[in-house]
Amino acid sequence: KPLLITIDGPAGAGKTTVSRALADRLGYTYVDTGALYRGVAREMRVRQVDPEDEKGLARVLADLDLRFVRRDRVLRLLSAGVDITGEIRNPEITMLASVASARPEVRRALLALQRRLGAEKSAVFEGRDMGTVVFPDADVKFFLIADLHVRARRRYLELAGDPGLSLEQVEKDMQKRDANDAGRSIAPLKAADDAVYIDSTSRGATAVVDEMMAVIRD
Ligand code: C5P
Repeated sequence: KPLLITIDGPAGAGKTTVSRALADRLGYTYVDTGALYRGVAREMRVRQVDPEDEKGLARVLADLDLRFVRRDRVLRLLSAGVDITGEIRNPEITMLASVASARPEVRRALLALQRRLGAEKSAVFEGRDMGTVVFPDADVKFFLIADLHVRARRRYLELAGDPGLSLEQVEKDMQKRDANDAGRSIAPLKAADDAVYIDSTSRGATAVVDEMMAVIRD
């Protein structure tokens, strides 16, 4: 049976960097489940379906065909065979993903897909509800946190190059997404009872991954 490690936590806590590095060290696959919510948002955007449009959303989900591939060691997301990796990180898709992720039918559609991926091979799964809902029996669960200012700063530096963005705006958007995640009625963001908390506020990714490795080996 594949071994599963879950990393949940708020936006910008360093989940992506850490999950990728941890998966590399363990020789596991890495699955970025936020990309799947972003993929749904991208399809909604393309078809001009808003989150309240139940019929439109049902059609988007019925046709959903998201798949991960690794190219040059980088994870890419394909939608119906088209590489959409470069389209899903902009602020508009980011906020739409946050809103759409509160829709039960969206979560249901992605739940099945995520579990299929988890049955294939040992993996590190990154998201918001990996340890609580998708893989309650995961082998090791982490909950990664960091101060809001630090998280916003990291995300701002990541997005540098997008001239329309200010640090203040990034922080505001992040706070909004955190509130959406924590406040939704289905699968709200919270740590699993058996998750190990790690705070990355004043530590780099390597130190965090070292600590995770120590927990896993324990
Ligand atoms: O992790 P990332 O920021 O890429 O996720 C995009 C959005 O998808 C988040 O704002 C969150 O609302 C949603 N999400 C979720 N459950 C997950 C992963 C992401 O609700 N497991």
